[in-house]
Formats: sequence, structure tokens, C-alpha cells
Amino acid sequence: MLDLFYTDHYALPLPVGHRFPKDKYRLLREELERDSRFRFHPAPMASPDVIAGVHDGAYVRAFCEGTLGAASMRKIGFPWSKGLVDRTLASVGGTLAAADAARGAGFGGTLAGGTHHAFRGEGSGYCVFNDIAVAVHVARGQGWARRVAIVDLDVHQGDGTAAMLAGDANVLTVSVHGKNNFPFRKERSVVDVELGDGAGDDEYLAHVEAVLRRGSQFRPDAVFYQSGVDALASDKLGKLSVTPAGMAARDRMVFEWVKRLGVPVVVTMGGGYSDPIALTVASHAATYRTAADLLA
Ligand SMILES: [Zn+2]
Repeated sequence: MLDLFYTDHYALPLPVGHRFPKDKYRLLREELERDSRFRFHPAPMASPDVIAGVHDGAYVRAFCEGTLGAASMRKIGFPWSKGLVDRTLASVGGTLAAADAARGAGFGGTLAGGTHHAFRGEGSGYCVFNDIAVAVHVARGQGWARRVAIVDLDVHQGDGTAAMLAGDANVLTVSVHGKNNFPFRKERSVVDVELGDGAGDDEYLAHVEAVLRRGSQFRPDAVFYQSGVDALASDKLGKLSVTPAGMAARDRMVFEWVKRLGVPVVVTMGGGYSDPIALTVASHAATYRTAADLLA
């Protein structure tokens, strides 16, 4: 059985017509609940103090208390509400809980998280706090993950993750993303692959294979996988042309690699903005099912 944590028990309050696809989180949970290989848990809220272990304390406080300025909230892209705070803390809590599960059982997944555009002192692009940076910090504090590889295959660069973990020789940040996608000013991951518009399965998978080979040389003792599926051709934001079969092949490569390494893996979601959203949900579901096929 694989443990999955979900956050949709906290509603994300958004105005009508907001373009963030908040329904995909519930739809994904409902889809995966039909698969008996998973055990589901509501994500607990992370403590703001734990989050402040890697984020600027004043930023964490201001967001939680609702005193962050209008420009900062605009950059995040969500209107502030108490509900947004609860959901955000649960999103980080889901990744922390998934990391705990991975520590014990080799796998932990969250049906949220992967908020990789969050920086130490500010959020952006629908990301408030960087759940992976928080969880890596906690895991290393607990002593079970000294060398960590973060494999971010979302179509947008993991800029916040790269910046927050820059200069740490025991963290390998990998990002495979579209060159012409947000963020338009890129940060430097340890390994960045920039794909041109329209890149399809063959090109995409060749790069994924190459970065995983590089990841093996790093010899991580834990892997965090940001499994965004916005490289799909059907994605409204992605600009790439990866097919659902190509996306599934990507996930298989990642989990086969993890299996060969023999280290715990924490799987978070990431972006996915296909129209219809069912295409995004199907690919996210395939990610977790592939993990079950290979790691359960
Ligand atoms: Zn994305």
C-alpha cells in the first residue's frame, strides 16, 4: 500500500472565473480512490514555525495574518483569505507527511504541493511556500536524508527551489522546463534543461534520461519528485507537445531510476492546466499509479 495525502478537505476559496484549476485536486483524489493500492490521509497543517525554518519569518507571519501587501498577493495570484492560509499550510503539511511516509516505507505521495515558484521571502505563480524546500530541510534535520536530489519535471522552471537551495553541495536541484515559459527570468538550478516550444516525446524523454543519469552520479539518499504534467500538448500554459503516453514513460523512467537507487522518494504534484482538466487529472493519476506499479 502506498500512502497518499490530500488537501481538498480545505477548500481553496477563489473568485468565479479564476483560472487556477482548483478542482483537479479533488478529481485526482476521487480517481485514485478507486485504486486499492493506495491509502488516503487528510494532510495535516504544517506549523508556521517549521515553514520559517527556510522562509523569511516576517513573510510567513504576514501571509498567515493577512497583512501581506497587495502587490505581494498579486504576485502569488490568489486573493488572501483564511481559507487560503489553511489550504496553504495543509499543502506544506502534505509534503511533510509524505516525506515521513517515505522515510518509513520508501514512498510517500501528496496530492498537492510542488509549489516551486515560492522564494525565501516572497511567493509567486500560485505558490506561497516552497513545500519541497521545507520538507528537505526537515528531513535533513531528522538525519535520514543527507544528500537530496530534487527532480522537477514541471514545464515551468523550479526557480524558487533553485534559489532557496543554491550553494548547498548536498542538494541536487534538477529542472527540465520550457525555455519560453514563466518564469521569464530564470534562476540557476544545478542542472537546468531548457526545451524549445513544441518539444515532443522523443526530445523530452532523452533529456529526462540524461538528467537522471546525472542524478545517479550525485548518489542521493532521498529523492523529491515534482511531477507537474503541464508539458502535455493539451496544456494551456505549457507550450510543449508531450503526449499522455510520453508523460507516462517519463514517470516510469523516474520510478525505475528511484528503484535502482534504492532510496526513499517523495512525490508531489505540480502544474497541469489542460483543457479539459480531465486530461491533466488523468496524467497526474497515471503518475501515482506508475509509482504503485513499480514501488508498491
Ligand atoms: Zn508548471
